[in-house]
Amino acid sequence: MIVQLHQIGKEKSQFEFTLGVEQFTKLEKHFASSDMKCDAQFQHNMEDILLRGHFQVTLETTCDFCLAPATLAMNEEFELKLITEQALSEPQGDLEIPLHGMDTENFDGQEIDLGKIFEDQLILELPLSIKCKDNCKGLCAACGVNLNLDECKCKSDPKDHPFAVLGQLKL
Ligand SMILES: [Zn+2]
Ligand SMILES: [Zn+2]
Repeated sequence: MIVQLHQIGKEKSQFEFTLGVEQFTKLEKHFASSDMKCDAQFQHNMEDILLRGHFQVTLETTCDFCLAPATLAMNEEFELKLITEQALSEPQGDLEIPLHGMDTENFDGQEIDLGKIFEDQLILELPLSIKCKDNCKGLCAACGVNLNLDECKCKSDPKDHPFAVLGQLKL
């Protein structure tokens, strides 16, 4: 999804588009199970363009705690200031670029690759750790059993083991 600069008017302009699952190239261990619904709103200022984005996508991934498949539904908003490389390389007069700590993205002044921007934002918004559910118990560090599915045998007292009584009979 490429937007040419001349498509962005002085007034707010809005673009709605969809990124197909096959267009993602940086998702690594995750993969998209739905197309990404994107909404980009531009505001053309004197020296830069403000982009307000919103996207929704569902990712299939793996729980970092129990390694089971996990689904991650993302619904995120972001703001980005687009600055032409020309404005960056030719600072002159009072052409000072106030960044206000906002994320910025450089572009060549002609076209804006919205697909790339939205995929980058998706990567940025990925949670540091993914849990399949809030109360995921993870894997037992000793035996590797998935504690969501199974009781962990190594934690329980051997005397409580159902066959412990057999051991006593042998004595
Ligand atoms: Zn889990
Ligand atoms: Zn265990």
